[in-house]
Amino acid sequence: MEFAQKLLSNLFPSRCLFCQKTVNTLTVSGSSGNKNIDVCADCYKDLPHNSNCCIRCALPLAEDINNKVLCGRCLQKLPAFDYGYSLFRYEDDVIGLVHQLKFAEKISYARSIGEMLLTKIEREVLPEQGRPDCLLPVPLHRSRLRQRGFNQSMEISRIIAKKLEIPIDYDAVVRQRITVSQTGLNAQQRRKNIKDAFRVVVDNNYKHVLIIDDVVTTGSTVNELARILKKSKVERVGVLSIARAPVKG
Ligand SMILES: [Zn+2]
Ligand SMILES: [Zn+2]
Repeated sequence: MEFAQKLLSNLFPSRCLFCQKTVNTLTVSGSSGNKNIDVCADCYKDLPHNSNCCIRCALPLAEDINNKVLCGRCLQKLPAFDYGYSLFRYEDDVIGLVHQLKFAEKISYARSIGEMLLTKIEREVLPEQGRPDCLLPVPLHRSRLRQRGFNQSMEISRIIAKKLEIPIDYDAVVRQRITVSQTGLNAQQRRKNIKDAFRVVVDNNYKHVLIIDDVVTTGSTVNELARILKKSKVERVGVLSIARAPVKG
């Protein structure tokens, strides 16, 4: 298998998703070995990594705040989830990247993004928060899934699950109600729109669940999901997303 992969990548070298330059496998250290990421080292470095963020919810903070602190919103009211990590800020090239993943259904994007997230998990999430019992990709309503045929959070979870041998439990929770798109709604409208949208269907014994999402905007969706998981006796809920939107204005 490994030999076949090597052979293939020599015959068909990958191109950087951003600049189209031919890339050799980008070497990012991590315990699961080299990562198969179609992003060249220069473009990877230039991406808006979300390194300066709220210690609890991963909301991007201003560059001049250099200590890991709580954001203003968490200071007011802590979210239902126990921790949040986000690989990037939702800006610049990352907007296009997520858009390609979501709407072009490109599996190469899912693989590269999944592998980049894997680096984040190995370096930060696991050492700081411990190992989750399962991954929970944010569920789409079944009609939305049928329409789209692709759940981007599921696809990136597959990459992570396989490498880390953490199971995905997509059936634990269903999206029981079709919600209108959260785009264009303010934080309060989003909370109202998503309330009771999910239902835990499988009685599980998970103590620690890691929610996987593509973009976290205000956090109302993952917060609602965390709230119902906690209600069903999950003790610890974390959130990992590809990108987190900075506060507007
Ligand atoms: Zn590049
Ligand atoms: Zn926060």
